[in-house]
Amino acid sequence: MTSRQPTPGPGILERLSAPTHRQDRLTHVEVVPARRARYADWPDFVPPELVAAWGARGIERPWSHQAEVARAAHEGRHVVVSTGTASGKSLGYLMPALSGVLEARKRGGRRGATVLYLSPTKALAQDQLAGLHALLPGDGGPEVRAATHDGDSSREERDWAREHGEYLLTNPDMLHRSMLPGHARWARFFSMLSYVVVDECHHYRGVFGAHVAMVLRRLRRICQQYGAEPTFVLASATVADADVFATRLTGLPVEAVTRDGSPRGRLTLALWEPPFVSHQGEHGAPVRRSATAETADLLADLVAEQVRTLAFVRSRRGTETVALTTRRLLDEVDPRLGQRVAAYRGGYLPEDRRALERALRSGELLGLAATNALELGIDISGLDAVLVAGFPGTRAALWQQVGRAGRGARDALGVFIARDDPLDTYLVTHPSALLGAPVEASVFDPDNPYVLGPHLCAAAEELPLSEEDLALFGPQARDGVDALTRAGMLRQRPRGWFWTDRRRASDLADIRSSGGRPVRLVEEATGRILGTVDPASAHATVHPGAVYVHQGGSYLVDSLDLDEDVAHVHLEDPGFTTFAREVTDIAVVGEDQHRDWGPAGVNLGRVRVTRRVVSFLRRKVPSGEVLSEEPLDLPEQTLETVAVWWTLPSDVLEDTGLPAVDLPGSAHAAEHASIGLLPLFATCDRWDIGGVSTAVHPDTGQLTVFVYDGHPGGAGFAERGFGAAASWLSATREAIASCRCEDGCPSCVQSPKCGNGNEPLHKAGAVRLLDALLAHAPS
Ligand SMILES: [Zn+2]
Ligand SMILES: [Zn+2]
Repeated sequence: MTSRQPTPGPGILERLSAPTHRQDRLTHVEVVPARRARYADWPDFVPPELVAAWGARGIERPWSHQAEVARAAHEGRHVVVSTGTASGKSLGYLMPALSGVLEARKRGGRRGATVLYLSPTKALAQDQLAGLHALLPGDGGPEVRAATHDGDSSREERDWAREHGEYLLTNPDMLHRSMLPGHARWARFFSMLSYVVVDECHHYRGVFGAHVAMVLRRLRRICQQYGAEPTFVLASATVADADVFATRLTGLPVEAVTRDGSPRGRLTLALWEPPFVSHQGEHGAPVRRSATAETADLLADLVAEQVRTLAFVRSRRGTETVALTTRRLLDEVDPRLGQRVAAYRGGYLPEDRRALERALRSGELLGLAATNALELGIDISGLDAVLVAGFPGTRAALWQQVGRAGRGARDALGVFIARDDPLDTYLVTHPSALLGAPVEASVFDPDNPYVLGPHLCAAAEELPLSEEDLALFGPQARDGVDALTRAGMLRQRPRGWFWTDRRRASDLADIRSSGGRPVRLVEEATGRILGTVDPASAHATVHPGAVYVHQGGSYLVDSLDLDEDVAHVHLEDPGFTTFAREVTDIAVVGEDQHRDWGPAGVNLGRVRVTRRVVSFLRRKVPSGEVLSEEPLDLPEQTLETVAVWWTLPSDVLEDTGLPAVDLPGSAHAAEHASIGLLPLFATCDRWDIGGVSTAVHPDTGQLTVFVYDGHPGGAGFAERGFGAAASWLSATREAIASCRCEDGCPSCVQSPKCGNGNEPLHKAGAVRLLDALLAHAPS
């Protein structure tokens, strides 16, 4: 079967885009040339028995970036490696970490060496442990006592890890809730800690990132208490400014290794834009064909050409739709082909998943539609082509998915199919944003007072907080401690601040949420709690009548009880999705940073946002057609957060030639598009941020467009918008100007969450306002 397979590349792409009705859809083709491996010698400090162990696993020599990371860490320099998928980031930290443990053993004596490995998920830690066992099976060769420590560990396993563990694999949650508060019992482990590995660290962004930054500071303080000063090694997907991010996350100076020495085959990346198919959008706006429908067509064509293809689809339902549609299309050609396509999603039993993986590897299956594979921990390689239906949120994730294509040195094909929204449309029409140097940065705000406070309490419970400790927790720590003391949560004594409350201080912070009491989702029939939602987003996501997708399953919300913080739901897939719409007011509390762009101004500061969810839209799946808008009666919510805003004075507005009546619509359109584009720079989701625009704002006296973080205290997104304002707002201008619609559509200025029903919107006016703003922007 393999011998008949063609090499995927430009040839196949030509055939995919050949039919006349498809000719406009291919917006860009980029051939990323093959790269040869760059090798390095094993660093001198790696003992021969480890070199032999890796040799037995087929690793003859490290790639250059792996050796670079290993040497930096061995010399005690904190380092972050930021390279592509499958570039073997783990070897970089395993060399110094395992060498250190074995070296300490050889030296003998009481003082050994330990390693703490942190991953954002339990599953990844377990994979890593399996990898360690495979590398060091212990049959006469070198041994390292490794264990995972997570919510599933038994009491015996925990005791063993505490008493004997040398390489402990856990997550920030366990560190926060169990290991740091119980540090006395982990004294042996912490006192010998030589390396802290923070894997997949780009996941620690937004509010979660701020929590993890605080947990790492608490860890450093505990280590210091036991006389240890571990070296931090971080691993990240390719993002902009990995060193800046890692430095913020750890609070330590971190250097970055970004030159990837791993080899790869030639990759042809195609960008694909579905056509406008109807005028059924809001106010008669044109609507594009769905990315799912388009993906099914392409998958069918590739399978018909015998190209082994994986299609990534954002939702479970989308996955099923793509697989079913592809099968139907193929059945019309050759029924035997239809059987070689399947769907792959969460919720399958492990044995079913393994069977699918095997079938794809053997070539028995040719096409597979899958939800994000990394979340599922699937093991699929050996593909020829990857289709990505809709931007997966970050550039790093897109490259990770496309990187699944290519077997060894074989050529590979990747196709990114845009959805009908501003960011996807911008990306397929501005390929340099995907192909050039990364502009997206993992961001968070380590000084968020809502995050800082609970961690100061937790730290004080672990060990009384001294004056010197405050520097570790940042410039806001002093104010934070004073406020907590006034509130009676901390008590000041000569030896520092003490936690004197009876509660467990670590319970004050839920590191996976952004503060406040989370709203629980309870399944009506069973009483089972499915999960929780942040209070700040509950009105918009679990209002009565909302369709809530949880682990791919679709639930309908029956009621939202705001006194009890409970939403009652039942399992149902009604065939539509819902979008909450909210009206918003904003007041400036304080301006923290300001930049003049000629007569215009760009600002960052604290704001008070008053929001009310007023209605929701029902949209048909998969066409996106609006079925109805239903009113809602929910109370106002206020949010103290951080915003970026820009202003234009009236004389500049006059120069634009826009009549006063068009100013509100122009500002509103610019606001919507800028919210759509910020995720490209700030690794957030458009649902994490909100906006307000007005022709004259009472606090600025000028035309003002605000974009704010949707989390109490801010999540770093608005701050990143301020820092990257010129690039971000230029991209916003480009996204609007290059959209081929006439008067605005979901691909440019219409927003699915607009509380004003996408009115008024003035597409051309938005471009003129942004031109006036950007005229004096720094290049
Ligand atoms: Zn448009
Ligand atoms: Zn709006």
